[in-house]
Amino acid sequence: PASLWTDCHTDASRFIPLAHLSVPSHYADSLSDIMIPHGLIKDRIEKLAQDIVGANPGPLVVVCVLKGGHLFFSDLVAAIKRLRQSSGVVVPLSYEFIKAKSYVDDSSTGTVRLSLTDADAETFRGKNILVVEDILDTGHTLTTLLARLRLFNPASLRVAVLLLKKLPSGRRATIEGGAEYVPEYVGFAVPEKFVVGYCLDYNEHFRDLDHIAVINDHGKAKFAK
Ligand code: 5GP
Repeated sequence: PASLWTDCHTDASRFIPLAHLSVPSHYADSLSDIMIPHGLIKDRIEKLAQDIVGANPGPLVVVCVLKGGHLFFSDLVAAIKRLRQSSGVVVPLSYEFIKAKSYVDDSSTGTVRLSLTDADAETFRGKNILVVEDILDTGHTLTTLLARLRLFNPASLRVAVLLLKKLPSGRRATIEGGAEYVPEYVGFAVPEKFVVGYCLDYNEHFRDLDHIAVINDHGKAKFAK
């Protein structure tokens, strides 16, 4: 349902010129606009934490999908802990880290490599799992990961993604046996542009940028493999 995420960032006229916010000088010539300022990312995560705690009583295994999901994971976990402190709800958390890689430059290679083995079965069997991922584009990474985790028979399997790419047709990224799939928790719907920052990279660059921004052609050429 549309109410699950904020949709305002699909409109390029709402992007913020670089000159209006603080951007590291080593990236200033490589970005066209800021799509989502850092403060807004943090505000949205506070709300996602409320939604997650409201719907997930009991212990939760929070799975961080590396490397891109690292910052979202740590800000989300911190927000959940703050909420526990202030509201007194009991949601014990444990953390797992899975490395996933499928992109070179700005394109999906179609092959997803995951650092997950059968030896991890006991970590997930019968548990309530929350997968925390940076962005859902083609859906290959998440489909592959969810299929592997399901084999471990968890009690529940939910997903939080910070960004959900919207195709020009208005259709969202399609996964899961051809059916349209929307994760339970979505930070922002974003347009079909390659974005960087807030731990999202272009060949390992831009992870240290706080805002989520759009890379320009000069940046793509400068940091190409
Ligand atoms: P998918 O498998 O859904 O196509 O893409 C998921 C993964 O690809 C993400 O976890 C992320 O690492 C990478 N990815 C997809 N779109 C983007 C993008 O716009 N920017 C960056 N930096 N990474 C992306």
